[in-house]
Amino acid sequence: MSDSFDRLHLWHPYTSMLDPLPTFKVKRAYGTTIELENGKQLIDGMSSWWCAIHGYNHAELNDAIQIQLQNMSHIMFGGLTHDPAIELGKVLLAITPKALDKIFYADSGSVAVEVALKMAVQYWTAQGQHQKTNFITTHSGYHGDTWNAMSVCDPVTGMHQVFGSALPIRYFVPAPQSRYGGEWYVDDIKVLEETLATHHEQIAAMIIEPIVQGAGGMRFYHPEYLRQAKTLCEKYHVLMIFDEIATGFGRTGKLFAWEHADVVPDIMCIGKALTGGYLTLAATLTSCHVADVISSGEAGVFMHGPTFMANPLACAVALKSTTLLLEQDWQSNIQRIEKILTTHLSALIDVEGVQDVRVLGAIGVIEMKEAVNLKQLQDVFVARGIWVRPFGKLVYVMPPYVISTADLTQLLTVLCDVVQQ
Ligand SMILES: *Cc1c(COP(=O)(O)O)cnc(C)c1O
Repeated sequence: MSDSFDRLHLWHPYTSMLDPLPTFKVKRAYGTTIELENGKQLIDGMSSWWCAIHGYNHAELNDAIQIQLQNMSHIMFGGLTHDPAIELGKVLLAITPKALDKIFYADSGSVAVEVALKMAVQYWTAQGQHQKTNFITTHSGYHGDTWNAMSVCDPVTGMHQVFGSALPIRYFVPAPQSRYGGEWYVDDIKVLEETLATHHEQIAAMIIEPIVQGAGGMRFYHPEYLRQAKTLCEKYHVLMIFDEIATGFGRTGKLFAWEHADVVPDIMCIGKALTGGYLTLAATLTSCHVADVISSGEAGVFMHGPTFMANPLACAVALKSTTLLLEQDWQSNIQRIEKILTTHLSALIDVEGVQDVRVLGAIGVIEMKEAVNLKQLQDVFVARGIWVRPFGKLVYVMPPYVISTADLTQLLTVLCDVVQQ
């Protein structure tokens, strides 16, 4: 099935070049269907990693890009500006916390995280606090694959083993144990408090994915953790960075996950579903206060400016994707998906080999007791007409929001059937 050039020459995510797993060649994708070269149609359960919330080949999103293409596909953002960046900015400020007022457009989620970390350090150095350059985070987090983003990913499932001393050493505290919708364990915050008390003079910021820890374990935790963590960060003069790259744009049932806890960060990263899965774009938002302090420092400016900053095509499609989302009753739609996910997946909890099942918004997770055989599962899923890509012990789905009830039911029926076997 795999293309031989692809197999020999193209590196895929987290893949061996000695013995790469088979890849399936896609001819086209439309709505929630992925059509393979051999004509096989798959129901998409992944939204291309949280992104394609409106499905593929969407007429209005296609139009948005085509219209922008007539004017310009790109123009440098140094000294120049354009409507797509401005109009997108207005929409983003309207849907993110009021206290966040300044937007830095970045070209991918990992870069948005790098930008957030750099903002935090510049915030403190601008005030003469040159020792506040480190970060604190929880276990089971995921913040991207670039150097500093990697350094705040989970040190066990992340890349710390491989990169060893090349990675800066961060402060890690246990992942929150209190589950979303469950009881709050008062001890959950203890290590964070102790670590901040001892090391806050070295710490610029805490970075965390609010409510849902994504690629680091697909865990849903208690909102109280965020409330207490924010209070502690204020007490110890540590900025709070929320990484909403996976959770943003409705995925958890709220437009952004901070709303579950009503806690506003100092800096927030968004990405993934921002362009509806069309092009790579992310953004780092911060408050007037943080931006002003950074700008009043010795450097006088924020030290970052990527070549493709605020790419007009990406901004135009992000604007259209976000307005499309806001124009519809997206809450009811996510509730519809959540209900169907819950009905199907909760039946698996007693199945042998299943450790846990959890659903939040349009995210459904089956955690197995052992790591799954990825190749075998992927082959079975494709043969049976669904696209689901597990990792480690986790078999999970986060379908495009436009998925029909019939298609979602079919996706989950096959998924549950395969897991039961
Ligand atoms: C995917 C992801 C990133 C990295 O985004 P890229 O666009 O892949 O660089 C960062 N943080 C979270 C929470 C993510 O899910």
